[in-house]
Amino acid sequence: MPAESENQRSQERSYVSVRFRLRGKRKIYRFLNELAGANRYLWNAALAQCRKDYAETGKSKTARNSLYNWYKQHKDTEAPWLSKYPVALTRTGLQGLSVAYREFFMQPERGHPKFKKKGKAKKTFAVEISSSPIKQNGYFRLKQGLFAKMMDYDRINRYSNPVPKSARIFEDRGKWYITVAYEVDALEYQADGIGVGVDRNIRQVADSTGQMHHLTDVERLEKRIKNLQRRQAKRKKGSCKYRKTKKTIARHKRKIANIRRNDHRHIARDITNCSTLVLLEALKTKGMTAGAKGTVETPGKNVKQKAGLNRGILGTAWSILEGYLGERGFVHKINPAYTSQTCSKCGYMDAKNRVSQAVFRCQRCEHFTNADMNAALNIRASGMASFNGSGAYVRPVLAERKPAIGHRVMKEQLTPYC
Ligand SMILES: [Zn+2]
Repeated sequence: MPAESENQRSQERSYVSVRFRLRGKRKIYRFLNELAGANRYLWNAALAQCRKDYAETGKSKTARNSLYNWYKQHKDTEAPWLSKYPVALTRTGLQGLSVAYREFFMQPERGHPKFKKKGKAKKTFAVEISSSPIKQNGYFRLKQGLFAKMMDYDRINRYSNPVPKSARIFEDRGKWYITVAYEVDALEYQADGIGVGVDRNIRQVADSTGQMHHLTDVERLEKRIKNLQRRQAKRKKGSCKYRKTKKTIARHKRKIANIRRNDHRHIARDITNCSTLVLLEALKTKGMTAGAKGTVETPGKNVKQKAGLNRGILGTAWSILEGYLGERGFVHKINPAYTSQTCSKCGYMDAKNRVSQAVFRCQRCEHFTNADMNAALNIRASGMASFNGSGAYVRPVLAERKPAIGHRVMKEQLTPYC
């Protein structure tokens, strides 16, 4: 990687994260599994120590450096087998624990950091990039003499002056990957003043040029997964047939994920071919999908329907599309309020305008169109206005707006418990 020189420093920098598949001989996968296990062990041991300290003295040292010191001590006295693994690939998990504690202190309602259960916890660990494990020829050094190949490493050549800043290795459905966050020269996009509004929906994406992008139907695969899961439930846990079914399920899930990613790449290309200025709704997938079940006291309404919607929303993975759009153009986000209820022709806003999920009919001017297309046009109008600041004609919303309700009041900081 070329070093940063004086004149490059003035260049504006931005971040991209690139995912590579890790491949190599069999012993590499064994070592990766061992590393994930060592990381899980360290997390649990450190967490147990923190809890014990708190129970005994009412205090526990959860800062990163004190955890690092504990690691050194622990390795020398109790777990000498840890010295088999490089520090840069095992110690970093403790930084994650420190962050988890800090978040817990700030928001106790999030809950105390939890122990990671074997077989249940995701196999993943962070990498200390300062030990420069990523080689220029696209190999990742796991330890002395053991390298894993980062597949399609050439992709990094798209960016100028990439400098790796952080990395994480993880297993996803039976395959190993590394995600590296690079600092790169920020691309300069010239806003062409055209702008495309994009309305993201379950299973389809509409843009303001009138295109409707459909996601590939994966119902057949989903059905197959359901059948396999039913079959897996009948098998004896840990048996050969159980493992075999599990593997097949993983393969099908991976297939769906790949199809989705491919869809999103194509959609992002089609949209950015029209304009490099992309206008999106700022959607809060978390808030929309959380809490379908509700609590025992206040059970949620339409639990089943909402659960279906949640599956739909998460299944389309909007954030992936957003990432790809950001790679190819400039993404500007707007407030999504009322975009689906306002008429894109005359500006009349009424909840009755939206006749059904797909049909929009204005109650005032009888404008009849596809509901998603209408929303995409509204997003474009609103986005261009806020992007330009001036110059764009802002069509006023005619109906009376209600004040925002449900304003979340910051809760008082509570004393943490252990
Ligand atoms: Zn109208």
